Amino acid sequence: MPNNHIRTRFAPSPTGYMHVGNLRTALYTYLMAKHDDGTFILRIEDTDQGRYVEGAVDVIYNTLRETGLLWDEGPDIGGPVGPYVQSERMGMFKQYAEQLVAEGKAYYCFCTEERLEALHAEQRAHGEMTHYDGCCRDLPREEVEKRLAAGEPYVIRQKIPREGVTGFDDMVYGHIEVNNSEMDDQILIKTDGMPTYNFANVVDDHLMGITHVIRGSEYLSSTPKYNLLYQAFGWNIPNYIHCPPVMKDAQNKLSKRNGDASYQDLVAKGYLTEAILNYICLLGWSPKGEYAEREIFSLADLVKIWTPDGISKSPAIFDPLKLRAINAEYIRRLSPEEFLAKAEPWIDSAVHTPINKKLLCANLQPRCEVLGEIPEQLDFFDSMPEYDVSLYANKKQKTTPESAKEALEALLPVLSDEALDFNDRDAVFDACKAKAEELGKKNGWLLYPLGIALSGKQRTPGGGTDLACMMGRETVLGRVKAAIEKLNG
Ligand code: GLU
Repeated sequence: MPNNHIRTRFAPSPTGYMHVGNLRTALYTYLMAKHDDGTFILRIEDTDQGRYVEGAVDVIYNTLRETGLLWDEGPDIGGPVGPYVQSERMGMFKQYAEQLVAEGKAYYCFCTEERLEALHAEQRAHGEMTHYDGCCRDLPREEVEKRLAAGEPYVIRQKIPREGVTGFDDMVYGHIEVNNSEMDDQILIKTDGMPTYNFANVVDDHLMGITHVIRGSEYLSSTPKYNLLYQAFGWNIPNYIHCPPVMKDAQNKLSKRNGDASYQDLVAKGYLTEAILNYICLLGWSPKGEYAEREIFSLADLVKIWTPDGISKSPAIFDPLKLRAINAEYIRRLSPEEFLAKAEPWIDSAVHTPINKKLLCANLQPRCEVLGEIPEQLDFFDSMPEYDVSLYANKKQKTTPESAKEALEALLPVLSDEALDFNDRDAVFDACKAKAEELGKKNGWLLYPLGIALSGKQRTPGGGTDLACMMGRETVLGRVKAAIEKLNG
């Protein structure tokens, strides 16, 4: 590994869920490396979990791939410091803890579960925080050896200095200090010989040559302990970047219960991947200088302009309206072909009869802000909904149920004309317009009722002629005739 080369890692625990805050950590971690041509590593931390979640690692892979946060080293592609799955590294840690024991910086602790429970109960009874009392901290060497030889179960604990303070510098939160007396002699190796999560995390970061640790601010309080480990080993301390929490509002974190806390939730609602990533980047980070006022950034833009000092300390409030506005902007920027490709699954979920999707999309795209809102606008295509004839009354268009009947009867022969090509929207419009002129009426007088007759709704994606061309002649004639019958009462 070359010197001064930035190496960052995203170290998710496979929960089956990519929280917006986690995806933001992944993005900042990626940007931190890529801005400097560094290496972005994916490490799966699968040992701190209560239970195995089926498919959870795939959620991580798929999300990172879809968003374009491609890793340079990771479980699937390997790399010089693998394996990249924590559970496959379990045998590597004990020797490091034993090294600390040999140097007097850690010790074997033989305290039983029962003793610790009794100790903690007593501490609680005195209103104290529960902590280890250091019972085995200074056992004579011969006793330790005897007990080890006798096969007594043990853990390895770190000897935290009793006095003094441990400080560290965070690139976002600044210098933070904690009194050593407030820290417990943390367990490094458990009775089963396996490392604790915190110990494995530190050793892994060191062995993988991580230069910048980027993670959620919930890890700030553990960082002094991490630092004491780096110091005990004499290893280089990485740069720390802790990110502010993502909140739903001033009091509550954005949680799974909100229904829009994960990348998958947002995709399921019809937000575009690029828009989600763009918005998430702005959650607690803002660009500087000439970009300060700008809101739309591609991933490549972000790589170019990234600077970690744009990260804010204060909690980031998730703003659905801003996400919506950014998504709308991304939708408007799509080419008609791209929009059709993205909208098609949503259209297909609501419409099962053949329609002119290209024309529908030309009408949808300028107004659409979130793809998930498409289906509800299309419920009239498969079958005509119930509606009341009072819908035909419209002051602006100067229509009434009576005038609508007249209009639809006048349109029937126009739309029946075999020479009229329903794939040519302008030709259909011109034919209707000519009819309106002939009758001495405004276009709206003729076409507003057509829209109602075809959809049973006042608001539709497209006016009467557009709807007619989307549906095709046969459906149109059937619906217009049915409407005239309805108006005949
Ligand atoms: N596995 C931890 C998490 O998913 C990451 C901790 C770290 O980045 O140090 O929250």
